[in-house]
Amino acid sequence: MKSDENCIFCKIAAGQIPSNKVYEDEKIVAFKDLNPQAPVHVLVVPKAHFATLAEMDEEGAELVKHALQTIPRIAAGLGLSGGYRLIVNQGEDAGQTVHHLHIHLLGGKSLGEKIV
Ligand code: AMP
Ligand code: ZN
Repeated sequence: MKSDENCIFCKIAAGQIPSNKVYEDEKIVAFKDLNPQAPVHVLVVPKAHFATLAEMDEEGAELVKHALQTIPRIAAGLGLSGGYRLIVNQGEDAGQTVHHLHIHLLGGKSLGEKIV
């Protein structure tokens, strides 16, 4: 599985630096965002390193598929019975700051204003 030794999410996925994990299996890890934007704000992260969807290979696509299939179970475990929002920032205009693909999972309140 691809990894980048300078990438903070690769280090979290490998257990080399601490995180507040809420879910983990052999393909993905989910942990609490350090700067939460909602009462529940978790990052769902494929364990292989790629920065954006444009750089995703077949293995990465398998991991993202698995993430999407697993998110309902992660959300249920977090008590998000009222729903949740997923956000995937891609590149500069979207404000992506960590260049390892991740899915923001937000919920725990009515999320209010949206851009879509
Ligand atoms: P993005 O702007 O989509 O790249 O999101 C990156 C997210 O990662 C931000 O919401 C940060 O708060 C979060 N973040 C950065 N470093 C960590 C970390 N070590 N543990 C948890 N969340 C982090
Ligand atoms: Zn990485």
